[in-house]
Amino acid sequence: MRKTVHLSNALLRAVEKPSRYVGGEWNSVIKDDTVKTRFALCFPDIYEIGMSNLALSILYQQINARDDCWCERVYQPAADMRQKMQEQDIPLFSLESKTPLSAFDIVGFTLQYELSYVTILDMLRSGAIPLYSKDRTDNDPLVIAGGPCAVNAEPVADFFDLIVVGEAELLLETLLDLWAASESKTSFLEKASRLEGVYVPAFYEDLYDRDGKLTGFHKLNEDAPLPIKRTLVKDLSQAFLPLRPIVPNSEIVHDRMVLELFRGCTRGCRFCQAGQIYRPVRERDKDTLVRQAKSLMDATGYDELGLLSLSTSDYSALETLTDDLLPLLTPRGVNLSLPSLRLDNFSFDLMKKASSTRKAGLTFAIEAGSERLRNRINKNIREDDVLEAARIAFSGGWRTLKFYLMLGLPGETDEDVDAISDIVFKVIDAYYELPPAERRKPPTITVSASFFIPKPWTPFQWAKMLPEDEYDRRVKRLTERLRHRFIRFNWHDRDMAVIEAVLARGDRRLAPVLVSVLERGGTQDSWREHFSYERWLDALAGHGLTTDDYTRGRETSELFVWDKIDIGVTKRFLQREWDLAGEDCMSHDCMTECLHCGANRFNCGVCLTHAG
Ligand code: SF4
Ligand code: SF4
Repeated sequence: MRKTVHLSNALLRAVEKPSRYVGGEWNSVIKDDTVKTRFALCFPDIYEIGMSNLALSILYQQINARDDCWCERVYQPAADMRQKMQEQDIPLFSLESKTPLSAFDIVGFTLQYELSYVTILDMLRSGAIPLYSKDRTDNDPLVIAGGPCAVNAEPVADFFDLIVVGEAELLLETLLDLWAASESKTSFLEKASRLEGVYVPAFYEDLYDRDGKLTGFHKLNEDAPLPIKRTLVKDLSQAFLPLRPIVPNSEIVHDRMVLELFRGCTRGCRFCQAGQIYRPVRERDKDTLVRQAKSLMDATGYDELGLLSLSTSDYSALETLTDDLLPLLTPRGVNLSLPSLRLDNFSFDLMKKASSTRKAGLTFAIEAGSERLRNRINKNIREDDVLEAARIAFSGGWRTLKFYLMLGLPGETDEDVDAISDIVFKVIDAYYELPPAERRKPPTITVSASFFIPKPWTPFQWAKMLPEDEYDRRVKRLTERLRHRFIRFNWHDRDMAVIEAVLARGDRRLAPVLVSVLERGGTQDSWREHFSYERWLDALAGHGLTTDDYTRGRETSELFVWDKIDIGVTKRFLQREWDLAGEDCMSHDCMTECLHCGANRFNCGVCLTHAG
């Protein structure tokens, strides 16, 4: 029997939201602690955020469906609890059995966003696990990771024994079988490294020339594959269907049941990493989704069901799915929530039926103000479509509209920045087209700007990030132009965007920088109140690095540290898209024309139909 942590009543009374730490929620899993493999599934953020993550919920249920494994959850404690745990020498522990992190066989982290990397180190440290994989022995847990940032996990590669690149569901079963049959960590890693989707960082090193230019990769284990191929679930009907998600005892960010309609996106926006790394599109069968919805309602008692995917309107059976779902949901008082809909007539009809959308308002992710810049980024939205959608929204009674866009996109000029305010004021004009009797409640128009960050595996992976002072100037220009009583303008933190950009295209030289940030008190950097730009700049400088080393534009001839991975989409395709962007030319949606991006080797429906 492994040692567990005791949480006294006095401790729980002294912290905000003790429900974050006690476990015992509906559908959480308790097993015999002598089970062969104890797995800690770690989310590097607080409970409310981690509990809202669908991928983790799927993995939790999938691992616990095996008799030989017990999967438990571990989240980063909030600042007050973290401080109390330090004072009382309490190690980081799991919610289900209160077992310290170091007593698990496998500790798995999700790499959801770059600014969580220091939190991962903080969790390892407070879990009494050596940070670097080279410092761990067979007595320490196997520390693994997966998630979207695994497509370039180089800044954190030295901390993990194994990284899963791609969708883990099918590979995970093989890895758990292999782990159960292996005599040592070393023999497990050697065998695992030959599986598609497995990256064992210690088996590779990056080669640089005297000028610090990356020249190639060297394998330190001759059987390790190069490149490392991404793994994915080719047919979603083979994927594990989660039917018993945990129902939290306190409010979380996304507090509802979720149906995942499909993976991938056919649209190819050039800044969007998700649009590339989840290719090709794979849909879940409609009848399976309806069955899943029934089971979820029975197992949870939730009053909201969300339809999830990158671009929900693109699900081929959306109309019949919602026709089948609404008669099931309505009598039980369950609302349907519909994120990411395209703003056409059909969607508005659907949103009227889904009562929850009126409260939340409508979102227009236009990304750029001018049509020229939208062509450049391959965002196929016409100004007329936006204005027509706004007219339909206003006459349908919606008064809360949100516009999402990016500043600093490659090729953006002052005219493009001004075009943002132009389109917003045209939307206000559309409101004034309503008859006076319908204008009693004025609209609220929120304009939310984020800063463009060049991400690996996108056509914009070669782009230079805009200098900080230039961002400030453009924000100021837009702030002045957006002054109106109906408009609220907000923008994301510039300094956080710069550090996210550093880590996104980062390399292994950043590992000691992350440790320095941790040692200087860093953790939970994705929260503005915990983030310190100076701390990051000092840590970078301490290792002879600057933000410019990573935010700079890249030559098309350059080798990237993430080129040791093969996500399916080819560099040749990405470069062609980069070149087309330079000419302000759009590409077709792969639903209408295959662009031969390389993902067709996965034999998806889309690719089979169009690849030729
Ligand atoms: S529509 Fe564009 S931004 Fe949205 S997921 Fe698809 S590629 Fe990304
Ligand atoms: S191979 Fe063609 S159809 Fe398949 S994802 Fe790529 S562009 Fe789309």
